[in-house]
Amino acid sequence: MWWRRKNTRKAKKAKSKEDKCAAPWCRNERAVNNTGRRLRLCWKCRSRQLKERHPVTYVLNALRQAARHRRVPFSITLADFKAWCKETGYMETRGMEPTSMTIDRKDHSKGYSIDNIQLMTHLENSTNGAAFGRGEQNAPKPDEWDSQEPAVEAAYVCSGENPF
Ligand SMILES: [Zn+2]
Repeated sequence: MWWRRKNTRKAKKAKSKEDKCAAPWCRNERAVNNTGRRLRLCWKCRSRQLKERHPVTYVLNALRQAARHRRVPFSITLADFKAWCKETGYMETRGMEPTSMTIDRKDHSKGYSIDNIQLMTHLENSTNGAAFGRGEQNAPKPDEWDSQEPAVEAAYVCSGENPF
């Protein structure tokens, strides 16, 4: 059986003080944006900052990555997703426990769009895949495999552990 490699990426260690991320205790190298400019923080700290400041954007990015990973179309906009989260309370109920909520596609032949997603517990989601034989039960849930999920605690970030 094929097992997915644990998807954890580490940030490079800074070689000089100028290259070091501005976050206290972080020894990583500052990230470079697409124009080649050095940013203040390393990509791990930037990711953590995004999670803290714009949690919905962060979750939507993870979902978009999941869609790309499964090669299915993705057409959820941030505004739509924000409204959907408010309506369903997903941001408060998401997590790693079997009873916490995860996003499921109503019609698995279609991609991720705002009218094709629904909430489901991790437990239901994994059994429903097996029941319908869609062969996706071995595929990780969007929340689990995303390599860019930084931890809430700094300790996780430093060790490169995926908290989800
Ligand atoms: Zn950093």
